[in-house]
Formats: sequence, structure tokens, C-alpha cells
Amino acid sequence: MLLRGKVTFAVIMGRHTKIYPEKYKEDASTTIIIDEYTGLSEVRDYLTEFLPEAAYYDRNVYDETSRKTGQELAFDVDPENIACPIHGTLADKMRRHQGLSFCKIELNMVKEQAARLYEHLETQFSNMKIVYSGRGFHIHVFDPETYTFSQKERQQIARKVKEKGFQIDEWVTTGDMRLIRLPYSLHGLVSRIVIPVEKGELERFDPIHDERCIPKFLGSRVTF
Ligand SMILES: [Zn+2]
Repeated sequence: MLLRGKVTFAVIMGRHTKIYPEKYKEDASTTIIIDEYTGLSEVRDYLTEFLPEAAYYDRNVYDETSRKTGQELAFDVDPENIACPIHGTLADKMRRHQGLSFCKIELNMVKEQAARLYEHLETQFSNMKIVYSGRGFHIHVFDPETYTFSQKERQQIARKVKEKGFQIDEWVTTGDMRLIRLPYSLHGLVSRIVIPVEKGELERFDPIHDERCIPKFLGSRVTF
């Protein structure tokens, strides 16, 4: 039985967007850790106070004394790892200063990869969730035994998945990147809400027009 303390959260107010509440100017680019709170409503208060461009939670699991006892296993598929037949690789796009942009073909390729990866992982794991990350997709694994996988086991899993042809961000699976986007938070760089997506709806899922992903502040002014 995994003894679980509190979840740690983190926010970045305006590192990339340069949009932040004026009074927090000094900390606008800092990763702010939220680990002292009495309940989730207090976490929400922090989020509405900081109005961050990005909110994360820490996949590490800690016990009551803040000792790390495990980590949630996750996989990250996003357009950065995909070579587009028209726009090329991330390096090609960076040369044109389009490193953050991605097209419909890339989105479809990412969706297909996420769906196939989910099916592949289903042979090993039984409790998983797909989350639209604002760009690509995260697959979270909640099977209890995975939390205590060693670093070596995680590296093996990542390697095997890559050998199967999946283009994942390895450092998410190996655990080197412990922060992952908080579902239902805003991805401020693309102005989309991070939401869970059922496997069955993945194929027709359209984050550009899906109302669940469109923040209220955009209202009807959504243009593309
Ligand atoms: Zn493209």
C-alpha cells in the first residue's frame, strides 16, 4: 500500500507569454511550487491569484514526511516529436522561427500516435487516462504497481515504446520531468484548456473547435 501525502502543484505565470499580474512581475518567469495548502479550494485560489500561463502537478508521490515513495507513470506525445510531410521536423520549423506552431496534419498524426500508443499500453496496464495537453496528448497510468517502478524499469519501458516506433518525450516516461500539465488548467501559449479525452472520441476530437477546450475569455472571438 502506497502511503500518499499531498500532491504538489506548480505554476508559471508569464515566462513565455510575458502576461502576468503586475504585482508578481519579479516572479513572472519562475516556477512557483505550491505544496502548502489546506485543501484543493486553496490551490484553486492560488491559481486564480497567479493567473498562470501553465499549471502542473508533480507526479512524484511523497509520504507524510515529504520522502519520495513513487511516481505516476506517464507518456507524452506531442507535435515536437513528429516530422510533418509539409513542414518537416522541429529543427526545420525552428529555422523558420515556427517552433511552436503545428498544422492539422501534425495534429492528426499526434492523435493517431496517441491512440496507437494507448492500445499498445493496454496490453500491460488497465487503468489509464488520455489528456489533451494543449498541443499533443499525455497518457497517464494509474495501475498501483507502476508507482514504484524503478528508474531502470521506466527507462526500459521508454526504450521499448520508442523501438515500437512511438515518438514520445522520453524524459516524461523516465521520470526526469516530474511535472505534468494539470487537467482542466489553461495552456496559455495556445489558449486551450487541458482536458481528459476518452479513447473512443480521440479520432474525432478537434481541440481547435471543441468548446470544452476553449477558454471563456476567448468568447466568440475564436479565429484561426
Ligand atoms: Zn505541418
